[in-house]
Amino acid sequence: MASEFRRLPKSIATVSLSGTLTEKLEAAAAVGFDGVEIFENDLLNFDGSPGDVRRICDGLGLRIDIYQPFRDFEAMPDPQRQRNIDRAERKFDVMGALGTDLVLTCSNCLPGAIDDDGRAADDLALMAERAAKRGLRVGYEALAWGRHVNTWRHAWSIVEKAGHPALGLIVDSFHTLSLRDDPSGLADLPGDRIFYVQLADAPLKTMDVLSWSRHFRNFPGQGDLDVQGFVRAVLASGYGGPLSLEIFNDDFRAAPARITARDGLRSLIFVESLAQDGAGLPPPATVDGVEFLEFAVDETAAEELAGFLRTLGFHHAGRHKSKSVNLYRQGGINLVLNSEQDSAASEHFQLHGPSVCATAFRVDSAARALARGQALLCPEWQERIGEGERRVPAVRAPDGTLVYLVEPDPSGRAIWEDDFDLTDEGRDGAGLESIDHIVQALPAGRMDTYILFWRGVFGLEPQQNWETADPYGLVKSRAMVSADGRVRLALNISESRETATGRFVSAFAGAGVHHIAFATADAALTLERMEQLGAPILRIPENYYDDLAARWGLDDPTLARLQADNLLFDRADGGEFRHAYTDAFEERFFFEAVERRGGYPGFGAVNAAIRAAAQVRLHAINPAML
Ligand code: MG
Ligand code: MG
Repeated sequence: MASEFRRLPKSIATVSLSGTLTEKLEAAAAVGFDGVEIFENDLLNFDGSPGDVRRICDGLGLRIDIYQPFRDFEAMPDPQRQRNIDRAERKFDVMGALGTDLVLTCSNCLPGAIDDDGRAADDLALMAERAAKRGLRVGYEALAWGRHVNTWRHAWSIVEKAGHPALGLIVDSFHTLSLRDDPSGLADLPGDRIFYVQLADAPLKTMDVLSWSRHFRNFPGQGDLDVQGFVRAVLASGYGGPLSLEIFNDDFRAAPARITARDGLRSLIFVESLAQDGAGLPPPATVDGVEFLEFAVDETAAEELAGFLRTLGFHHAGRHKSKSVNLYRQGGINLVLNSEQDSAASEHFQLHGPSVCATAFRVDSAARALARGQALLCPEWQERIGEGERRVPAVRAPDGTLVYLVEPDPSGRAIWEDDFDLTDEGRDGAGLESIDHIVQALPAGRMDTYILFWRGVFGLEPQQNWETADPYGLVKSRAMVSADGRVRLALNISESRETATGRFVSAFAGAGVHHIAFATADAALTLERMEQLGAPILRIPENYYDDLAARWGLDDPTLARLQADNLLFDRADGGEFRHAYTDAFEERFFFEAVERRGGYPGFGAVNAAIRAAAQVRLHAINPAML
């Protein structure tokens, strides 16, 4: 049933952001939130009055939606019962000063709470009556770990029993979905009896729900819960209040508030659209592959990298008409080396040294991709262009690199023909045909930001998590893959500074492309050719091949062939994977040649530990690489 797209106000609880209360409010306002939930502890730690908070919010154009949480109120025996009523009156005073009319009361967790819905309803009705006298309202929320009340349906039955117009229901996707409770019945509630909606996602974990909630919540679209189904049910009820984020997350507490706030608003815009079958946002462009990768270099690094690429079978294929930019090519792979002064690339080089500064996606519509990016709060980037040169729009990824959007030209001309003098050397190459996957190393705690960006803006879907043992710590990986599998990005993160990923991130001052895998139809031929050209191939220890023989039952000639070429091997889903690595270029990034047979779906993750150990050994015998 198609109905009109509904755009609700967007809010965030101050507990979701790092910093002082003022910093949190400024961050929320700067990225465009409509309102905030003031978390009690943030107010207690604030060096000023509730009236000061109200004035700051007024100045920033932020509404204070709610004051939260009010705990352990209902169904207590006397004398606690009377004390709780007095406590509520004091909270109402604070709310008056804050200028908010709604308080979040969560279900009682105390062992002393009485298991009596009638008592709970009476107490909440009394609280609502006191609130109503001041023009305030009370929202009742079931905590997943509440003593007697932990589902929205139970909380709703108590709200109904209380029957007071100033008492309504507050729902929180985490509390419902973490218990595997079904949110679909929310659709049948009267929407005006739902006073507030809080959203949080989370990765699936087997642990107690309280610790799970306090440390691992994340933004909708970043975890594994069906937050969009939850929002769908809420919208169907006719609820018209804010969608608000209440996130307790250790990484978010440590990240800059503005980055977290932008991620948060992006996630709300995204999930609100998903819950309405993608309405409200331009659909993601179809991403059909990587048109080129661009490296930021200076003149010296350009020469050295060009030399490295030649040993992999690349040849010089063109020079930009007006800039210090050169094209290297093999098969369908285009690598651009940019040493132009005063460009986005040179800025990137100053900050990070030789590195990938841009990725160009082939998309069916650059305009649509750009519009979706902008709707999801991605700044557009426009490089300076010369006369007659092609304008290629781009958005900035969270690491500051550019994602160019290249669409097919109706005339059939490639972008290179407009802007480059093509000087094809016409060399044989090593059989590399296309970009198979690109691996990025991310700073600790930042995986969620990238998952949301690639998923929301480009429709790439996150695959299963996996972990790799590096000799100096653990590396966690997650792949993001386009619908047809033509674009594959792998995101690596390490809490340890000593792993290859950790060293990369600290040496590099941030996130960046860590390795690039090229596809070949014949890995053995490619490796032999690269060996002839003098490519620095990563040597794999003999023990690996002994183990391989035992594991897969490979025959001797096959094994000898793999070993001679330093190829790693894996099998999955009836397919086979052969792959080999180069040494790193200036300790920054390296390349991989991969051959997929029979629809092998993965990335050879099982061999990543072997690769990491081989790279470490290389450093041990070559201190210059450290
Ligand atoms: Mg909540
Ligand atoms: Mg790889």
